Amino acid sequence: MHEQTACMSRLRTSDVVIAGGGIIGLSLGLELLQRGLSVVVLERDQAMQSASWAAGGMLAARDPENSPALLPLSLHSLALYPAYLDRVRTLSDQPVPIRTRRTLQQVRPSYSAGADVTFDDAKKWVPGLPETDGKFVWLEEDSFDPRDLCRALPMAFLAEKGILLEKTPVLGVECSSSAVVVETTREQIHAATFVNCRGAWAGDMHFGGIPVEPVKGQMVTVALAAERLRCVLRTPKFYAIPRGDGRVAIGATIEQAGFDANVHEQYIAAILHTAAEFIPEVEHASRLESWTGFRPGTPDDLPILGAADASNCWHATGHYRNGILLAPATARVMAQLIFGETPDLPLKVFSPARFPLKTALDACSSVSYSAR
Ligand SMILES: Cc1cc2nc3c(=O)[nH]c(=O)nc-3n(C[C@H](O)[C@H](O)[C@H](O)COP(=O)(O)OP(=O)(O)OC[C@H]3O[C@@H](n4cnc5c(N)ncnc54)[C@H](O)[C@@H]3O)c2cc1C
Repeated sequence: MHEQTACMSRLRTSDVVIAGGGIIGLSLGLELLQRGLSVVVLERDQAMQSASWAAGGMLAARDPENSPALLPLSLHSLALYPAYLDRVRTLSDQPVPIRTRRTLQQVRPSYSAGADVTFDDAKKWVPGLPETDGKFVWLEEDSFDPRDLCRALPMAFLAEKGILLEKTPVLGVECSSSAVVVETTREQIHAATFVNCRGAWAGDMHFGGIPVEPVKGQMVTVALAAERLRCVLRTPKFYAIPRGDGRVAIGATIEQAGFDANVHEQYIAAILHTAAEFIPEVEHASRLESWTGFRPGTPDDLPILGAADASNCWHATGHYRNGILLAPATARVMAQLIFGETPDLPLKVFSPARFPLKTALDACSSVSYSAR
């Protein structure tokens, strides 16, 4: 239980209230605390137990499946990552080790980013790799186990004197030009600023009508010999992420299935079958864990970062498949916006205003996604 202060009165005040205790809400909260603001993060359930827990942990800035419009923010986030992780590790006194340093990415023959890999070199890293139509490139790309961050990030936030109220859903927000009043199941909070960081749930309340929809992912971890795979292997159909200790996380489905949290055996079997075409031992490997998570999807696969329709309210959500990668840059540019500073990067492409209200609501019902 991360709650830090027992609330004696029913009214609390804070500079900023953030709804959603995932990587986006807590990373932004940490950034704002370090700029001297008081911050309350309200989490409906338990912090870092939704998409941020379910993720693979790849910092996949150059994944060819990403929208090109995402690259500048992705590269900015990569540049901020070492300092971000150091800060979290130092404040929490918890390890968050980098588990892999490079990704063997299968691409179409015309793809030009990354360093080409000869088939013989690729086989040194992934023995048994079959000859395929596509070519492989090396991407200099780190990964870590999000479960490490799930332990460390809430502790870092608390160490900076943030207030994290778990089991405390936001029920509504009243906004005026001078303040916001946030209603929760437990108490009312008066603040200068409210930020909607509710991941896949961010579109379900009536301040802005942003088109965020859950995009379900199912993943599985298997046990392989620790040295069997020494880099991330990613193809358009699956990825395998070794944790360095014999665990290999394999994913992921991309499904429009609402908030169905069930693991479906036939999907897990299909992922494993595809992975076994590249890593034959996967077929008979012990399964350690399988799970689901809900990516916050948007109609154009880009995050929604910026001012909401209502005064003093902001959105930082819709990070779809890249919220782990994008957390440090999101925290930084959102803090800059909230402080009225010019953000490090132009953010127009991520503006909530790119979805006019009616269009946004229409898009909610017609959003479609292609499989990796
Ligand atoms: C299978 C899978 C694999 C992925 N792999 C990667 C990867 O390798 N690399 C990468 O960069 N990204 C990856 N992602 C994407 C990444 O996990 C997400 O983009 C990121 O975690 C989103 O973070 P978030 O904080 O916005 O959402 P979340 O982590 O979902 O947090 C949102 C929080 O808001 C809370 N909430 C909702 N409603 C309310 C309310 N009314 N009041 C209070 N709290 C509320 C929820 O309980 C939740 O804890 C993956 C996602 C999935 C599902």
